[in-house]
Amino acid sequence: MRTTQQWQAADAAHFLHPFTDFQALAKKGSRIITRAENIYLWDSEGQKIFDAMSGLWCVNVGYGQPPLIEAATRQMKDLAFYNAFFQTATPPAIELAELLAEVTPPQFNHVFFSGSGSEGNDTIVRMVRRYWDVLGQPERQVIISRRNGYHGSTMAGASLGGMSGMHAQGGLPIPGITHIEQPYWYQLGREMGKEEFGRVAASWLEDKILEVGPEKVAAFIGEPVQGAGGVIIPPDTYWPAVQAICNKYGILLVSDEVICGFGRTGHWFGCERFGTEPDLMTFAKGVTSGYVPLGGVMVGDRVARVLIEQGGEFEHGYTYSGHPVACAVGLANIRLIRELGLVEKVRNETGPLLAKLYQGLKDHPLVGDAETCGLMGALLLVKDKARGTLFPPELAVGMVCRGHCFGNGLIMRAVGDRMIVAPPLVITPEQIDELGRLIRLCLDKTWADVKDKGWLD
Ligand SMILES: *Cc1c(COP(=O)(O)O)cnc(C)c1O
Repeated sequence: MRTTQQWQAADAAHFLHPFTDFQALAKKGSRIITRAENIYLWDSEGQKIFDAMSGLWCVNVGYGQPPLIEAATRQMKDLAFYNAFFQTATPPAIELAELLAEVTPPQFNHVFFSGSGSEGNDTIVRMVRRYWDVLGQPERQVIISRRNGYHGSTMAGASLGGMSGMHAQGGLPIPGITHIEQPYWYQLGREMGKEEFGRVAASWLEDKILEVGPEKVAAFIGEPVQGAGGVIIPPDTYWPAVQAICNKYGILLVSDEVICGFGRTGHWFGCERFGTEPDLMTFAKGVTSGYVPLGGVMVGDRVARVLIEQGGEFEHGYTYSGHPVACAVGLANIRLIRELGLVEKVRNETGPLLAKLYQGLKDHPLVGDAETCGLMGALLLVKDKARGTLFPPELAVGMVCRGHCFGNGLIMRAVGDRMIVAPPLVITPEQIDELGRLIRLCLDKTWADVKDKGWLD
């Protein structure tokens, strides 16, 4: 085994990391993760780390699960690859399609597989535009999404997303995609109650539809809870109002379930938590618990019927659409989620425990807001709790806190000054206590820094 320094040197010499300032990382050196078990990681220095982010929101069943490992091994031996292009199919892809139809809401009976969430959202753009074409309304091209939403990093995914930093590079968004404000109460609606704000934020969709012209709008896409944007949990009034507006104008509703799917919110899919009936859903991440790459689009009956009965050939697909090894792992993963009762566990036990922990963290002097949804949590670090004053962004207080987390064996992510977690769904009540102790320790250390540096004045 190479030493940490040797790994870092080779990494810096050859590996361009995603969403990374290459030069800055090369100077600092990557952290090298070498193994994992359950909800813990170990780095090349032998330090044990509590992975409160499930890798990248994906390791729902935790690391090292034998059924997934065995499914991949068995499938690689039987049939490592065959495509689904030439009027062929493989048993794992068929079985996973069947199982997905079972665990998703009743309107979903068909799936289009991709290799990732970004690709899934590219498929969404192609598919909704094709749907309206086939129906003889080719002018319906515009897709509405939200600022600070995240839908992946391909041209279409990044365009659907509302990340200004991403749009600033590479000439995005692509034509026919437009954005409305996000339903972030703390930033945009604190002068009103949350319920009222939810309805107001939904009304921005109607404003945009009228501005674009209802006859030109193809679809609205959103994450039930914005993940990468900082675990922005909308008021309960938001999604039902969005659904009503989509219905009123006949616009397709797309739920990007890449993070919220497969139990994260205490329901199989986030749309079930928030009470919508989407026409299409993107999935990835949790479908295989991240063990191998897989994504796709669940296609609701309204869209499937048109594409199947009137669409002819759909000129779109990926080499790895329905990859047999990925699908075999997906099958084993979903069966394990069922067997362990993880969705119910999140809803009835671990989700409420995380909520209680976060309620308690509200008494910390740095914490201006603390909220959870299932096994996702966000803490907003503020300068003045009473007034709700934020720190100036250039102080990067969130990064200071994240530094303490790294130093103390906890992975908690910083999105600006929102500290977010999304632990594996197999987390136990004892491990939630452990998480609470680690978070408090890191908040205390951040608080000490903030006072030392005079950032409260
Ligand atoms: C991660 C993510 C994506 C992109 O998935 P990739 O597999 O990284 O391409 C899309 N949508 C949401 C909501 C995500 O969190």
